[in-house]
Amino acid sequence: MHKKLFIPGPTEVKSDVLEKMSTPMIGHRSKDASTLQRSISEKMMKLLYTDKQILLSTSSGSGFMEAAIRSCTKKRAAVFSVGAFGKRWYDMALGNGVAADLFEVEWGKHTTPEMVDEALSTGKYDLVTVTHNETSTGIMNPVGEIGEVVKKYPDVVFCIDTVSSAAGAKIEVDKWGVDICVTSTQKALALPPGLAICTISEKAVKRAETVENRGYYFDILKVYKYIGKKDHQYPSTPNLSLMFALDYQLDKIMEEGIENRFDRHKEMADYVRSWAKKNFELFGEEEYASNTVTAVKNTKGISVKDLNAKLAERGFTISNGYGDLKEKTFRIAHMGDITLEEVKELLENIDDILGL
Ligand SMILES: *Cc1c(COP(=O)(O)O)cnc(C)c1O
Repeated sequence: MHKKLFIPGPTEVKSDVLEKMSTPMIGHRSKDASTLQRSISEKMMKLLYTDKQILLSTSSGSGFMEAAIRSCTKKRAAVFSVGAFGKRWYDMALGNGVAADLFEVEWGKHTTPEMVDEALSTGKYDLVTVTHNETSTGIMNPVGEIGEVVKKYPDVVFCIDTVSSAAGAKIEVDKWGVDICVTSTQKALALPPGLAICTISEKAVKRAETVENRGYYFDILKVYKYIGKKDHQYPSTPNLSLMFALDYQLDKIMEEGIENRFDRHKEMADYVRSWAKKNFELFGEEEYASNTVTAVKNTKGISVKDLNAKLAERGFTISNGYGDLKEKTFRIAHMGDITLEEVKELLENIDDILGL
């Protein structure tokens, strides 16, 4: 039996979208391939409120996170982390020999504009990373406000991780002054995993031009230049199957209406949060609670593992807490194409299993 996914990625994929994956192949150097890339770009630009170039990578989102920090840090990166995925940028920097400092807060808290200002005011950094939506803790950072601070430092390349929020929450790349915004297909975009997507600004491109050892496959400058020079094509063979599905899914997202889609996510988040507060507690600062995934504090000391086993028998699955938060918290994702009705059905089943 298929278990409906209420985990923060991969998320449920509609069958018509899945079917697009079986579109017959085209040459990746053909005009059709260029048309496909261009079509995806135009729609992604609308979704992310940007006029910057859109790049795709046949990797998961982590690919472009690594590409960004390696290709665009000349001096030193300031990595702001509020959980597991924030720290991932730091590990990527270390693994690539990129100079970086990690600025962490206690899990459940958010990154403040003041923290970023203080770090950047030292003049030590020329790149900063911030997680928009931290999936391990269910925290959504105020990236717009942080962006206002970053704008005071014109030499700093501003990178954000929107892997678990793009297409589920409004992300205004240009207004927020974001240079590289990274996401991937398998979360709020509701597609199978296998493509990373990012926006890239002129500033980021200019920086990459000054950085040596950008690597090969994840050299973001090479991907950018190829897109320009080769008429919207890629240095290596991209995941065309997923590109067909992405192009189609973006049409469906436009049909739903971008704002409507964000509103639907907000509604689902509000519903899950009030359920969590009634029966448990929210993990983390409510003011910064995520619109795509809710982390619930396990105040009743239930066995999350057992709950999930029972949910599985009924055709649902949720996520345990991340890392050290396992069993201390659990996470319910409400992102992608899932509806409020489906969320209600899940919670009714949890109520029934736990006798709430
Ligand atoms: C899932 C996730 C990632 C990792 O993305 P992949 O596509 O699995 O590489 C990074 N950041 C956040 C916030 C995530 O939720």
